[in-house]
Amino acid sequence: MTENSNAIVVGGGIGGCAIGALLAHKGYNVKLFDKNKTIGGRCTSYTHKGFTIDLGVHIFGSSQHGYLGDVCRMIGMPDAIKWVLSENPTPIMRDLGEEKIASQELIKFFEHCLNMPETEYEKLYYKSLSTFVWKFTKDPTLLTSISGMCGIIFCIPPFEASAGEFIRCFQQLAKTSSSGYPIGGCIAIPRAYTNAMEKFGSSVVLDAPIKKIIIENNQAKGVELKDGTQYFSDLIISNADIQNTVLNLVGEDHFPEDYVKKIKKLRYSMHCITIKVALDKPVTDEKFIMYYPTSFKNMMKDPSVFVGSKDKPPEKLPGMITIPTNFDPNLAPNGKQLIFFGTASIPGLSNYDAWGDACYKSLCECIPEIENHVMWYRTDSPATVETYAGEGGCIIGVSQNIYQVHERRPSQITPINGLYIVGAEAGGHGIGTELAANSAIELFEILKKEPK
Ligand SMILES: Cc1cc2nc3c(=O)[nH]c(=O)nc-3n(C[C@H](O)[C@H](O)[C@H](O)COP(=O)(O)OP(=O)(O)OC[C@H]3O[C@@H](n4cnc5c(N)ncnc54)[C@H](O)[C@@H]3O)c2cc1C
Repeated sequence: MTENSNAIVVGGGIGGCAIGALLAHKGYNVKLFDKNKTIGGRCTSYTHKGFTIDLGVHIFGSSQHGYLGDVCRMIGMPDAIKWVLSENPTPIMRDLGEEKIASQELIKFFEHCLNMPETEYEKLYYKSLSTFVWKFTKDPTLLTSISGMCGIIFCIPPFEASAGEFIRCFQQLAKTSSSGYPIGGCIAIPRAYTNAMEKFGSSVVLDAPIKKIIIENNQAKGVELKDGTQYFSDLIISNADIQNTVLNLVGEDHFPEDYVKKIKKLRYSMHCITIKVALDKPVTDEKFIMYYPTSFKNMMKDPSVFVGSKDKPPEKLPGMITIPTNFDPNLAPNGKQLIFFGTASIPGLSNYDAWGDACYKSLCECIPEIENHVMWYRTDSPATVETYAGEGGCIIGVSQNIYQVHERRPSQITPINGLYIVGAEAGGHGIGTELAANSAIELFEILKKEPK
């Protein structure tokens, strides 16, 4: 890695912006291109009727004490993102029915996870979370709360998720105990990184879709934009979907057959239906709620309850609820409140509005006070996420199932010299945005060691 060299980053999601900032701080002249008119990919925000709305429904597991904050510290700008913490970092769990959660057992389970040394949980990377949890309990309410947590962390069911990765993430959450949300909405995070890039003399070009990554003699050489303009560098980092990068932007002919086979087999996390609800006055002081209707009590046992059906939403939906204006009131016009509800869904749903309406019904059951104060609500579907970030609109990126975590995860290094992948696609550990930031930090360490 030498100073004053060039790098091109394709895509300005968290991973792309983070590696852009890290390299720019190191003295690189980075050019980052994003196809969208706004920065952030899945972690972006837009305005609607005077409200700042996040594309997703986000809570940030360890905020400034996690990988997102590490990026800021590594570029010498520790306060570039202003965080507001949940006072109680544990989400409130609502409505598992009349039955009480078997709290003693839950505490025992989480204590076991918390105290497990790395040498133990690394043996569990390739074992499923449900196999691990079943050894502890058969209590359906308890199983539901753990599988709900798995749904929020990895956006895949517990029978697919890696137990080792779950424990690692849980330890990080518990040890930092600082879940939070940034002032300015989700977009404040990628913006902090791109502001840093610009401060260090690098540039960000929006509304600039890359059509092709140019390869010559197995060496990355540059990129070609949709309008035909070309930019050249021997270091190209793609934050676009790994499958799209390999199969389309580069083209599979440039890669060894077994690499292409592996990339084609990758599985992505689940999709999400979200609703954004504007209220004419605040009705709740809470910041973060996990809602499980009673009917979801057997989620771990019966996966169909979790995944729903393609044609029609179930009567009731579990949801992750965030109330962004309780972190930053300026996200809404004076005196108004904003509430988000998101539920995981399978790919290929047909009727997004019906799912949006089902989300709204479940939200009203969880917080009945909202009903008389709703100004409007809008649904953001996987189709919307797809337009921002691709990957069919999935929530996280390449899923953290037992075949795709730790050493089984695709590497940031590709078989083509000078071509790297970054984001919730390759390398890294952690939850959603933190996984993407960790992928960038790992890539930065890799590049530091590479001879230029
Ligand atoms: C509904 C929802 C809820 C979520 N909730 C949470 C949460 O609570 N907590 C959390 O931490 N995470 C959450 N996530 C996940 C998190 O947002 C993602 O995992 C993370 O932001 C992915 O970052 P990334 O670096 O992989 O980039 P991505 O978001 O995948 O962005 C990729 C970028 O590349 C650009 N791009 C693609 N192709 C091209 C091209 N050809 N030319 C130019 N640019 C291109 C795209 O425009 C995009 O900006 C949620 C996501 C969603 C959708």
